[in-house]
Amino acid sequence: MAVPKRRTSKTRKLKRRTHYKLAVPGMVQCPQCGELKLSHRVCPECGYYKGKEVVND
Ligand SMILES: [Zn+2]
Repeated sequence: MAVPKRRTSKTRKLKRRTHYKLAVPGMVQCPQCGELKLSHRVCPECGYYKGKEVVND
């Protein structure tokens, strides 16, 4: 098994971790009710998509 020749310095370890970020989902405001929803999805609040009601409850 390969073994590292040198220990990873604190700086190097932290620099590697700058790439770890939270992925923010693409949220947009619903034009019907103004709630935040995922883009290209039916709004879970009012059930509207592209200006038409597609989900009734
Ligand atoms: Zn809505």
